[in-house]
Amino acid sequence: MPSQSSNSLLGLTLQELTDLALESGQPAYRGQQVFDAVYRHKIDRLDQVSTLPLEYRARLVEQGWGVGLPQISRRFVSSDGTVRYLIELSDGETVETVWMPDGDGGEIGDGSEAGDEIEGGTDVDRVVAGLSPAGRGPSALLRAGSAPSPHMSWRRATICVSSQVGCAVNCKFCFTALLGVKRNLSAGEIVGQIVAVLREQGVEPPLQRVNIVFMGMGEPFLNYDNFMKSVRLLVEGVGIPESRMTVSTAGIVPRIRDFGQEPVRPKLAISLNGSNDALRSEVMPLNRKWNLAELMKAAREFPLRTRERMTFEYVLIDGVTDAPEQARELVELVRGMRVRINLIALNPGTELPYRTPEQGRVVAFRQILVDAGILAFVRRPRGRDIFAACGQLKRTVEVTPDPESQSRLSP
Ligand code: SAH
Repeated sequence: MPSQSSNSLLGLTLQELTDLALESGQPAYRGQQVFDAVYRHKIDRLDQVSTLPLEYRARLVEQGWGVGLPQISRRFVSSDGTVRYLIELSDGETVETVWMPDGDGGEIGDGSEAGDEIEGGTDVDRVVAGLSPAGRGPSALLRAGSAPSPHMSWRRATICVSSQVGCAVNCKFCFTALLGVKRNLSAGEIVGQIVAVLREQGVEPPLQRVNIVFMGMGEPFLNYDNFMKSVRLLVEGVGIPESRMTVSTAGIVPRIRDFGQEPVRPKLAISLNGSNDALRSEVMPLNRKWNLAELMKAAREFPLRTRERMTFEYVLIDGVTDAPEQARELVELVRGMRVRINLIALNPGTELPYRTPEQGRVVAFRQILVDAGILAFVRRPRGRDIFAACGQLKRTVEVTPDPESQSRLSP
């Protein structure tokens, strides 16, 4: 069995696929054909590329090449429409990828809704008219075996993707941290999660609007090169513009600086989660390596594009990070910056010593930010009942949701 990491076509650039064709004595355009088949048409077997000569297909198989599409091994459907996928990689490891119809509530006010009327209108019209591209287009037949999309009425969907198996950053409030880090994902495995979910949902960017958030398991900036390669493949191959992608980092300062220099890059979100060094070091021990002064210096020097805002995420933990005084410290930290703050009320879990604040405290915290003129939102929790919400990704396979969503659980 060829191993996915060394023989997966998914993960190769157009140039790499072109070189592969030339090495086999094929014309250069065969590279483009394979590139389109893998990223745009989302094939899962080489024999589905009927435009490719039999002889070249056979040659690739002989050399151990396969598409390398990761397999969806479980799916959990939340009562709010969110779907958490457990995705199996070629070495048997699993990661989680989350599908959120209608976005994650995190985009409001970030400028990404510019042009929505036209784009959103198109999507809605298509759905209403029953003309979803799910049933049309060149790859419709190829998807014949996949499950139909359970949610066709969204205006824009967000896919939350993982960058590592587990995570090495030991945030005290996050479940993924409990796994430790097993390994980095390859660029092909990162793109593969998205291709697998789009295929399953019958969605075709750029025709239908999809946002990508690199906010699943792992720290993308500790797997920087593969993460960035996956971004380029998503833009050039899958057809998702980088303006619809956001990466979230726990605060790996040298990589924030590198990221600012990238010619093609997603938007940046930084997980702040503490308004002073003592507090942030308590909940995010990583703060001892790069403290708030260093982090905020890199953030202030980050070259934002026209109309772009930087996002700060701030997890509200009852009695730990949700005091009004901390909101005031937060105001000072970001003073004068072009930012939005996403407040996330802690998603609870039995293994953690922390609790979710009362709604009143969340509202009061936000109000202090708003009164100081800061764009601040409380993020709507998505898929808590199936352990799909922020910080809950730890490959849970036992879920006891309410009876209604139970009936929709697939194996
Ligand atoms: N490692 C990156 C990507 C993960 S993003 C990062 O840290 O930014 C996941 C987001 O969920 C982060 O902003 C994190 O602070 C937040 N989070 C983690 N655990 C959480 C929990 N239990 N409840 C709510 N949000 C949580």
